[in-house]
Amino acid sequence: MTPAPGTAEMLGVLEKTFGYSSFRGQQGEIIQTVIDGGDALVLMPTGGGKSLCYQIPSLVREGTGVVISPLIALMQDQVDALAAVGARAAFLNSTQSPQERARVEAALIAGELDLLYLAPERLRAASGLLDRAKLALFAIDEAHCVSQWGHDFRPEYLGLSMIHERWPTVPRIALTATATAATRTEIAQRLDLGDAKQFVSSFDRPNIQYRIESKAQPLQQLLSLLRTEHPGDAGIVYCLSRASVEKTADFLVENGIPALPYHAGLDSGLRAANQSRFLREDGLVMVATIAFGMGIDKPDVRFVAHLDLPKSVEGYYQETGRAGRDGLPSTAWLAYGLQDVVQQRRMIDQSEGDLAHRRNLSAHLDAMLALCETISCRRVQLLQYFGQTSEPCGNCDTCLAPPETWDGTVPAQKLLSTVVRLDRERNQKFGAGHIIDILLGKTNDRITRGRHDEISTYGIGQELSEQEWRGVVRQLLARGLLAVQGEYGVLAITPTSGSVLSGDTPVLLRREAPKQSKAARKAVKADLPTDALPLFERLREWRSGEARAQGVPAYIVFGDATLRGIAVTEPSTLAELAEISGVGEKKLEQYGEALLAVVSGGAIPEPGGAPAAASVPSAAPAAAPAKAPVTTFAPEPDDAPPFDDYPPDDDYPPDE
Ligand code: ADP
Ligand code: ZN
Repeated sequence: MTPAPGTAEMLGVLEKTFGYSSFRGQQGEIIQTVIDGGDALVLMPTGGGKSLCYQIPSLVREGTGVVISPLIALMQDQVDALAAVGARAAFLNSTQSPQERARVEAALIAGELDLLYLAPERLRAASGLLDRAKLALFAIDEAHCVSQWGHDFRPEYLGLSMIHERWPTVPRIALTATATAATRTEIAQRLDLGDAKQFVSSFDRPNIQYRIESKAQPLQQLLSLLRTEHPGDAGIVYCLSRASVEKTADFLVENGIPALPYHAGLDSGLRAANQSRFLREDGLVMVATIAFGMGIDKPDVRFVAHLDLPKSVEGYYQETGRAGRDGLPSTAWLAYGLQDVVQQRRMIDQSEGDLAHRRNLSAHLDAMLALCETISCRRVQLLQYFGQTSEPCGNCDTCLAPPETWDGTVPAQKLLSTVVRLDRERNQKFGAGHIIDILLGKTNDRITRGRHDEISTYGIGQELSEQEWRGVVRQLLARGLLAVQGEYGVLAITPTSGSVLSGDTPVLLRREAPKQSKAARKAVKADLPTDALPLFERLREWRSGEARAQGVPAYIVFGDATLRGIAVTEPSTLAELAEISGVGEKKLEQYGEALLAVVSGGAIPEPGGAPAAASVPSAAPAAAPAKAPVTTFAPEPDDAPPFDDYPPDDDYPPDE
């Protein structure tokens, strides 16, 4: 069989430039399509390897590949990463001086660039310039930003439909990690990509272990996760509010874990500095609101922890997807409790927008709750949400330690009838805390004052602990058998509660798991043989020095996967080293001798690799980005209660 034109070249670039031996998933077909001049719409999960899909065609095709990206703060790193493998790349954005821009423009016109990164808002102004250059392709990264209903909408993206009108013969490739069919349709429409070939990958991320546990002492739970399974690892901890971000970061630092805060309320300089440190240094923990993360392509994030319930499965999936881009084992861990449900419902009730909008938010939350309370494989449920199927995975908490279930019909009836009695007999509504107090037969002020000890369900629930009762409430809420309303989070029955009360619907509940299942505690470093660990650590140390000397993120020198490969195979010649995934020609030449020295056990060589400067006179020194990341922030509540020792539901009805 004669290979299609370009096949040999694209394989050559994959091996020589990037040091990889084979394409992943659909990469080969996508790259071939674009090299042949066709348009492509690519949906691939985070870490799937989207960058190569436009980088290789840019290198193979004549002219410059223009990459439209909204992530100005990350352009420098992208350009550095390309320079490190010997590609000629540069960017044009608002952070540059006119002189720097002029240099890049001259290089473009002279045909000296393989890739040019461009912010979407610059496209119109740069049109005349692009007309004078030879263009290999247009890549539209984070293409879901064109979706007006999505959470990352950027108005500038709407202007990108001009590309096809102005440069009809230049192939276009749009890429996103957002999975739903609706988004895909919208991208195709708005970017005029109706005829593009669509490539939808499996959205499974097999190396991520999904775990969701109930929240008791969240900070302690987090600490134990980090200490037992992820010592020294880089990771992200998501919190809902700015206050909890600050509190959590302080807590981790007090406990000896290097952590940095990130939220939209921080001074922009500090925010940028923290982001830059997280990307550059090994083993830092970023504690952040969801303002942090889009486009962060740090490949060695080993865990993503959520201390608050995400608002939707899409959000959860995108945030957890930032773990393990390098394909190595990683953890997605979420702690959630009753208070989360109450708080999210309250935020929905108070949100602006019409009824349809609130219904939409509610539906998203319901799907998230269903994922939390499922008794079957988390991955199956997640993928189902994106319209894909899978077998039970063996790498999530419910697969590793199948939850016990128990018949909760009677407790559910007791609880619901307490809610009904208070409402019907007294015309009163209360939050979960007080309802549980009644069931447990507690005596306190509010019970005495309200004479709630005279209600027939008073004290009939002593077979369960308070924590277990909270679990019952949570699960009933998750299934819509109970509702939570208003500012005070009071409980109310729903149209389906009646069938539980009448005994027509049995209620099978998930038993509250002990804090963490043993089975799930497989340390993530486990797959690296113990005898390779010391060499791996030495290689990391060498890499840190090298990265620091060049002012680039450590992963630009080498990814963890490559260091592991070296640690396991202990190459003793340059030829053996070249076999390892991630070692291309340029890096072999630049670092080969130093790596062999590290492997042979001598002193760790001083940083010696030449700085990874782009061959084009590049912009600012590669250290910290000068400007704050240009990002639009999702709303972050300032006032949500910090969750540690979260109070029992404060459930006074105002008019009691
Ligand atoms: P995405 O943009 O889809 O999130 P990236 O393009 O950043 O993913 O790729 C994720 C990681 O996978 C990177 O570290 C990249 O170098 C690596 N990678 C991509 N393609 C291959 C391949 N064919 N073989 C080995 N590693 C790859
Ligand atoms: Zn599973």
